[in-house]
Amino acid sequence: MSIRILLRFSVFLILIISIIIVSVKFQDIYINSEEKGLTEQKNNQSNKGKKGNKFKESKEYTYRIYEEIPQGIVKKISGLSFLKGGPVTLEDLAYIKLTYWGFDDRTHFGEIIVHKELAQEVAEIFGEIYAAKFPIAKMRLIDEYQADDDLSMADNNTSGLCMRKVRGSDNYSKHSFGIAIDINPVQNPYLCQGILLPQAGKDYVDRQDFREGMIVKGDVVYEAFKNRGWTWGGEWKTLKDYQHFQKNLPVESVE
Ligand SMILES: [Zn+2]
Repeated sequence: MSIRILLRFSVFLILIISIIIVSVKFQDIYINSEEKGLTEQKNNQSNKGKKGNKFKESKEYTYRIYEEIPQGIVKKISGLSFLKGGPVTLEDLAYIKLTYWGFDDRTHFGEIIVHKELAQEVAEIFGEIYAAKFPIAKMRLIDEYQADDDLSMADNNTSGLCMRKVRGSDNYSKHSFGIAIDINPVQNPYLCQGILLPQAGKDYVDRQDFREGMIVKGDVVYEAFKNRGWTWGGEWKTLKDYQHFQKNLPVESVE
């Protein structure tokens, strides 16, 4: 008799436990699907960024312009590539997230900070570069190199904003205003009076010996910038800065 009671009790207990497990699982599934719905919605909302395309994994070029630099990025750049009391304010700058074509023939996500006035055309320029599958090695904020241009160049990084003085001068470089961009510094080094930067660029001093990632007159990178009124450092007379493009703003609010 007592065994029977025990048996009944255990069956009852198993039943209760099963009910609890099932209900917890169900709740889990329910919460998950709700959360998923929420994140999807969030993504959709952010995809509707007023100037961007859909931002997701795809073969298509995608970009998003943040006219207000996200707080996390502000924190990251403050005291490094961005200096309070520098030539432009945070409000003058925009943060762009975009895709670029890599040397590995794959799409990568990159980021760059430029002057707000130029953000839209910079996004378009990199769209043309992407469409042509011109390879870019890296596109990270220079702050990941402690805003040290030499380190960024040595790592073949493509970058925009960096508040710094021109080499051997007291003037702010165009990068300080977010109106200059350096692309693939190794394949496109800086050359001035025997100074070569970065050192790894020594294999690319001969501009006739064309290899992937090099910028040459008339190519897609050159045209994309030049068609929008940018200047190329590869066409300067006194020095050559093959990685460098810059543009003076329509309203000469800088200098
Ligand atoms: Zn430059």
